[in-house]
Amino acid sequence: MSKIIDGKVLAQRLRDNLKDEINKLKEQYNEVPGLAVVQVGNVAASSVYVKAKTKSALEVGIKVIDHHLNEETTQEELLILVDKLNNQDNVNGILVQLPLPDHINEQIVLDSIHPDKDADGFHPLNVGKLSISPKNDENLLIPCTPYGCLLMLKSLNIELKGKDAVVIGRSNIVGKPMAQLLLKESCTVTIAHSKTKDLAGLCSKADILVAAVGRPEIVRENWVKENAIVIDVGINRIEEKIKDNIKNKLVGDVDFLEVEKKASAITPVPGGVGPMTIACLLRNTTIAFKNSLK
Ligand code: NAD
Repeated sequence: MSKIIDGKVLAQRLRDNLKDEINKLKEQYNEVPGLAVVQVGNVAASSVYVKAKTKSALEVGIKVIDHHLNEETTQEELLILVDKLNNQDNVNGILVQLPLPDHINEQIVLDSIHPDKDADGFHPLNVGKLSISPKNDENLLIPCTPYGCLLMLKSLNIELKGKDAVVIGRSNIVGKPMAQLLLKESCTVTIAHSKTKDLAGLCSKADILVAAVGRPEIVRENWVKENAIVIDVGINRIEEKIKDNIKNKLVGDVDFLEVEKKASAITPVPGGVGPMTIACLLRNTTIAFKNSLK
């Protein structure tokens, strides 16, 4: 039986610490961090995420500046808004919820966010800083999901140095920054992806396995080394038949029931990486605020 790494508890701890820190900053500077949340259109999942992020931000004392634009908003209009937010003093972090409608080029919009206000850590400058900085520095704006995964690993209080880590997935928002973070912890990192040969064999040698694939329960028990640590980033909605009823269910990329028996520690879905992602967004916003005071 493995230790279940409880993302809800760890995220609560991180939020509590941020709340204390923001209270102190408020006493000292009479200001609090401001997060601009921009949503374009009404994709249901985006609305759920925006609501959860807004609620968490308000709870820790971050001011939220909400901009919900309609589906027909042009790229130019969105860029004008981002430019305005870039120059607005009470905005320290800008979050543009993805995905954007098809007629808008996401990368152009993400690149237009000022790197100092890049709450998601997706701007090329911050990607570059993450890549070249020797340590996982406190003041870097780091993509939230992989940083949350790193904090979950660190919560185990084990030596990461020298561990063999496999990250499945090479996306800009999870896989690649995850690999960078692990590399800086002196792990030996392999990035696997859809064209990797013998994925199961490769994974089965990993001391640390991070699955960020988007394929329900692809990671099976025989993919996992005895006592490995398994971090499941995947969020997949599947249908489950209970008697005659079909219900929607959230599962990760890891077959939890199988792998739990073999891993030394594992994150659940839901209640694992998801809550940590949101807490790390609040962390980035607070860092951006503190950096603006320097
Ligand atoms: P993505 O689609 O951008 O990338 C998926 C990666 O998996 C790709 O690099 C691809 O090469 C690889 N891949 C796809 N099929 C594969 C296969 N059969 N074998 C090996 N590799 C394969 O996805 P993403 O944005 O990186 O997200 C990955 C998963 O993590 C999704 O389920 C997403 O919903 C979830 N996610 C969760 C959070 C969170 O907060 N928990 C945040 C972001 C993403």
